[in-house]
Amino acid sequence: MSEKFVVVVADKMSTVGLSVLTEDEHFEVLTNNDWGPDEIREAMSRAHALIVRSTTKVNRETLLAAPNLRIVGRAGVGVDNIDIESASENNVVVCNTPGASTKSVVELTIGHLIASTRFVARADRTLRSGDWAKKQLRGSELGGKRLGLIGFGRIARGVADLAQSFGMEVNAFDPYVSGEQATELNCVMHDDVDGLFKACTHISIHCNLSKDTHHLVNRERLTMMPDIGADGTACGNHVVNCARGGIVDEFAVLEALQSGKLSSAALDVFEVEPAIGNPLLEHERFHGSPHIGAATLEAQIRVGTEMAGLIVEFFNGERPKSTIN
Ligand code: NAD
Repeated sequence: MSEKFVVVVADKMSTVGLSVLTEDEHFEVLTNNDWGPDEIREAMSRAHALIVRSTTKVNRETLLAAPNLRIVGRAGVGVDNIDIESASENNVVVCNTPGASTKSVVELTIGHLIASTRFVARADRTLRSGDWAKKQLRGSELGGKRLGLIGFGRIARGVADLAQSFGMEVNAFDPYVSGEQATELNCVMHDDVDGLFKACTHISIHCNLSKDTHHLVNRERLTMMPDIGADGTACGNHVVNCARGGIVDEFAVLEALQSGKLSSAALDVFEVEPAIGNPLLEHERFHGSPHIGAATLEAQIRVGTEMAGLIVEFFNGERPKSTIN
């Protein structure tokens, strides 16, 4: 590299992760410290690379304001805040760090599954209110139950591995993954999503949000769930979503909680975020978290380190392996 490249970091990120860039003399890193519009304009006019998380929207105007821009890095997974088509038209490469938060989301999913079946959030609420509700909080074990994974990508496979160590039978539905891949991991692949709902008392969502998956978890499918676990226990039905809001029809979930068809529901992601005032929050058998799947120290460092590495690779003439366009 003979030139010096300007990297604009538009959203808050781990400085540890970015040290690969800040300590390299070939890069000048401009970090957004609550910039005003003039500072943003000035930085973008000089930018060769732009790193964003989910806050900054990269649209046609952003790209026009950055004539030298060659790469946009999404530090994280979802690229819904980036206009990929406009980037391609402007010969700007878009890449992300898809695997950096996998482990953190896997662990949160398992946490929500256990919190659901052992009433962890409700037990804490009742305890704090002065109620020793020992008799009302008899839960069920994950072992011996059938877990249905919607989507069988990186996070789902991590969840499958841990769930199997609890003794769960893992089933999956993913039209883009072969049954053989599931069999290799001792999982059962279903050809249709209805079959998954009919077989499983525990459903966990790990697909992308698209027009095919919008409200994929709906009233009709929740009604198909079996109530009785594979081991014969009356464990009820449980749904966890740590993927993207909108895959679950939240109104249908509330209705199913009210009717008793669902014994619990746990969401990390919501159709409208922040989910303040969401009616689900009023239901005692619901618990949630504010989209914290990737919010661990380790994931944040990994995201920054991987992204910095991709930027260095790109300016060394390599195409980042996670290029999207
Ligand atoms: P991945 O790309 O490895 O897996 C997604 C899987 O979904 C793929 O195997 C794909 O074939 C499958 N899929 C696509 N359309 C489908 C459909 N119609 N029905 C069933 N499956 C379908 O992604 P990943 O890294 O495992 O991430 C999974 C989800 O978790 C994504 O939605 C991602 O945005 C989300 N995520 C959430 C957080 C969080 O903070 N809660 C953090 C990271 C990722």
